[in-house]
Amino acid sequence: MQQKTRFIVITGSIMSGLGKGIVSSAISKLLQVRNFKVVPIKFDGYLNVDCGTMNPFRHGEVFVLEDGTEVDMDFGTYERFLNQSLSGRSSITGGKLFQRIIERERKGEYLGRDVQFVPHLTDEIKDWVRNVAKESKAEIVIIEVGGTVGDLENGYFLEAMRQLKFEEEHVSFIQLTYIPAVNPGEQKTKPTQHATRLLQSIGIQPDIILCRESEPLNEESKKKLAIYCNVAEECVFDDPNLHTVYELPLVLEKQNFYEQIARKLKMPEDRKPELKGWEKLVHNIAHPKEKPLKIAIVGKYTAVKDAYVSVKEALVHAAAAQNVGLEIGWVEASDLEKLYDVAEALSHYDGILVPGGFGERGIEGKIRAIKFARENKIPFIGLCLGLQLMVVEYARHVCGLKDANSTEFNKTTTNPVVDFLPEQKRISRLGGTMRLGAYECSLKKGTVAHKAYGKDMVLERHRHRYEINPSYVSLLSEKGLVISGIHPKNEIVEIAEWKESFGVATQPHIELTSRLENPSPLFVEFIKAARKK
Ligand code: GLN
Repeated sequence: MQQKTRFIVITGSIMSGLGKGIVSSAISKLLQVRNFKVVPIKFDGYLNVDCGTMNPFRHGEVFVLEDGTEVDMDFGTYERFLNQSLSGRSSITGGKLFQRIIERERKGEYLGRDVQFVPHLTDEIKDWVRNVAKESKAEIVIIEVGGTVGDLENGYFLEAMRQLKFEEEHVSFIQLTYIPAVNPGEQKTKPTQHATRLLQSIGIQPDIILCRESEPLNEESKKKLAIYCNVAEECVFDDPNLHTVYELPLVLEKQNFYEQIARKLKMPEDRKPELKGWEKLVHNIAHPKEKPLKIAIVGKYTAVKDAYVSVKEALVHAAAAQNVGLEIGWVEASDLEKLYDVAEALSHYDGILVPGGFGERGIEGKIRAIKFARENKIPFIGLCLGLQLMVVEYARHVCGLKDANSTEFNKTTTNPVVDFLPEQKRISRLGGTMRLGAYECSLKKGTVAHKAYGKDMVLERHRHRYEINPSYVSLLSEKGLVISGIHPKNEIVEIAEWKESFGVATQPHIELTSRLENPSPLFVEFIKAARKK
């Protein structure tokens, strides 16, 4: 008989930004290393169908799954920790739920009834969660409830989870909370006491409390939390500030976190974890053998580091794999436009990275950075927009097409080396209409890309509207730009490289598939090149 699925529901209290995604990922990891099949789900209360149309300044990076679903950046964290690709079904947003309910209502599926939050919306949520469990054959489903307990937006999700606990045999609630200290050593548990009462007032009793804090909980605070929140003392855990987020599974493991969750969910308490490889990589990040490489990320959202999490993490993975330190310099692209000489800003870097982006601001600064990297043989890697601008730079300065540009930035250029995809020309809506998700890319033998991946065909994820214009490919190749990856069917350029020095750029966002235990091959090559420099 198939075992019943177990559900772990993670809520956040008091304030946002405590790292619920990281906690959910770390807990998932502790279960995965014990050979459980774990599948994460995230609830987001916003009424957008997905976060594809949200500004990275406000919402951080938009992550793209293999199936093309645009999701919250927490999904990147799950995949990086679990080394596993997730389905878009794991992302349940208010927008998707209401869209569904309204569609069903119009079809007449609720005929005769008034459609209500309870039971219609809450049933929809529970069905969805159970279906994900079934489709994915998950033994354990970890549900992260976005937002903070008490928000209007996630109230219906919490009600659905309260019902789930009532209906299912194995459901456990974990509350992530914050313990402020007014003076060092003076920890305050009152906000958590009130937050727990709030949760209890909606019928949910947490089994475990995880405390974000600047120093480990003292005995007194732990006792207070236990007695006021109805939680055993052994079930109150520390979630301290760490050198790297990847350390959290190890920190929880040391506190015997698994035993407690296993007890709550009636799972074997003595399953031993396999954490050796993970430990080694975490050690490499915290105490690298080689001194740090300096890598410049030349971007437009550099003020909000969350806008580039996957890029940053892909660098961390590649550096950890080679046991070298990493120091990232955030260079605001538009600042480079004002400088007379970009050398002052960039010459002390061992490598230059130009990430993806939309809109005109900072474009000329990025082009200057790429030119500087090419002329001074500084290792370069470009991602999505980074490839498009590598081609613009090459067309302008090597092929002599002075006004070469992308039609995204200059609609009337006489040399549109980057242009709208023909199928994009008919599109008038902005949500979910880009080239999205994983596509095959066939690699040319003898190139950096082919050597890095060690195979002829790879699958990488896309999110863009423009492409390298096929009519310029022969000129670019004649002048020395190596086209190392193309779409196997329509021959659209996916990866290009320089010949004279290390420089590689990809139309897909290869950073999205980089994981701590399985770094992106081209990032590994980029870090190798930077070490040589
Ligand atoms: N703005 C470019 C496009 O739409 C690049 C997008 C990106 O870097 N993700 O094609």
